[in-house]
Amino acid sequence: MSEKMLSFVSVPQAQPPKRQADERRKDFEEIYEDFSPAQAKVQSSRCSQCGVPFCSIHCPLGNNIPDWLMLAANGRLEEAYNVSQATNTFPEICGRICPQDRLCEGNCVIEKGFESVTIGAVERYITDTAFENGWVKPVLPLVELESSVGIIGAGPAGLAAAERLRATGHQVHVYDRHDRVGGLLIYGIPGFKLEKDIVARRQKLLEEQGVVFHLGAAIGAGEGEIAFEELRGKHDAVLVATGVYKAREIGGPGSGLAGIVPALDYLTASNRRSLGDTLPEGELDATGQDVVVIGGGDTAMDCVRTAIRQGAKSVKCLYRRDRANMPGSVREVKNAEEEGVEFVWLAAPEGFLGDGTVSGVRAQKMRLGMPDGSGRQSIEPEPDGLFTVKADMVIKALGFDPEPLPELWQTDALKTSRWGTLQVDRTSFETSVSGVFAAGDIVRGASLVVWAIRDGRDAAAQIDQWIAARPSSSLAAE
Ligand code: FAD
Ligand code: SF4
Ligand code: SF4
Repeated sequence: MSEKMLSFVSVPQAQPPKRQADERRKDFEEIYEDFSPAQAKVQSSRCSQCGVPFCSIHCPLGNNIPDWLMLAANGRLEEAYNVSQATNTFPEICGRICPQDRLCEGNCVIEKGFESVTIGAVERYITDTAFENGWVKPVLPLVELESSVGIIGAGPAGLAAAERLRATGHQVHVYDRHDRVGGLLIYGIPGFKLEKDIVARRQKLLEEQGVVFHLGAAIGAGEGEIAFEELRGKHDAVLVATGVYKAREIGGPGSGLAGIVPALDYLTASNRRSLGDTLPEGELDATGQDVVVIGGGDTAMDCVRTAIRQGAKSVKCLYRRDRANMPGSVREVKNAEEEGVEFVWLAAPEGFLGDGTVSGVRAQKMRLGMPDGSGRQSIEPEPDGLFTVKADMVIKALGFDPEPLPELWQTDALKTSRWGTLQVDRTSFETSVSGVFAAGDIVRGASLVVWAIRDGRDAAAQIDQWIAARPSSSLAAE
């Protein structure tokens, strides 16, 4: 072990510099800067090089964290990058947007009393440095295979699978209904968490590797869409990585009023504007509005912080439980508060006021009750707890369910779970249809980028084995 490690006893934890709230409210640029080389070295050296690294165990990719921390602490950054990219297709993206407090850092053994190693920020620093120095290269296949794989969905699951399959030599075609590559990385997650050129440089590498993208190509049974069976006929294997997009609805009187909008429509419009697209003036735009966001997850946090940047008059987040029981990341709530978001805890919407267009939210004050079977505290209404919050725009951020793929694609053979996610064999990732595999949110339900990457990589390995096990005569030439 390097002498430079174990410095956590003398070196306090430090995150990379964060821009001042007043400054970051004005733009959609990332709020954290990269570590300086000296900071990255000294922060990496805080690691105690555990024999059983709980950080790695709790990283969905099983990243070899202690090794790349030790290499970074010694300034051996190219080697650190090589170790880091061996298990993670997009380390610079995970370093930016993984909820580290619930994953690697939340399980770092030095946390108690000393605060965890800043694993995510170091991971980001290593790969950003690798890009700056030209160390990140497309993994070109050693042999070209005739076999062809069609991937539906250019989100992190589809892209991670594409990268692995292409590296093995398969001909890889990725289809997406959107006009840009990245899935929720591009149209869901705002630029202040993940700048869009970070995603675009990965697209370029995949293209250099030989992955073929078909954009504006929706799979479905509608007009202008590609039929699922037609796609199957073109490829030896198909991977479905379509994510989950059906927004959970909110009921109650007035829920159909104009000005009540789904979170993803709102975020997509904002991301499109940031990318330079022209949208009708005022459409899904919070400028000058009193905005109420309903929900307590990461999507709600992205909406409130987007509304602040658009210049909303006021931004409130209504959540039916309290701060301690909200699903969103603690770090993101803090960032939102710094930027001027007001949280109204223990408030459940009952209905919406307005004449044609929404003008307010009628909400019920709640209180925490006894823990339920899962240990989570139940909630119950406070007597006489009704109140009204002024709103010209209400954003519904209550989560997502899968779209009904068998119905939309007219393929009854594709079996789903009772939640609507695609059923797969847990080892092979194969669906109920032979040669059709699935990965990412469409299998797990709404989850995380790091899990989508993991599933994409694992599914790619299984597809590769499945193709190799078939009689070679059945391989299709593209
Ligand atoms: P997606 O990223 O959803 O990609 C699916 C792709 O499939 C899309 O490009 C879609 O256009 C395409 N597609 C769908 N249907 C079709 C079709 N019929 N034909 C062709 N193409 C199709 N996770 C984190 O780890 N950290 C975060 O900070 C974070 N923030 C988030 C913020 C928001 C607002 C949202 C909504 C999610 C966030 N997540 C976050 C979750 C994360 O984005 C997802 O778990 C992840 O993107 C799932 O990856 P995926 O590849 O399975 O699906
Ligand atoms: Fe932590 Fe995510 Fe990186 Fe794993 S991929 S080490 S969970 S930041
Ligand atoms: Fe280092 Fe913390 Fe991981 Fe231990 S758990 S190896 S101290 S980062």
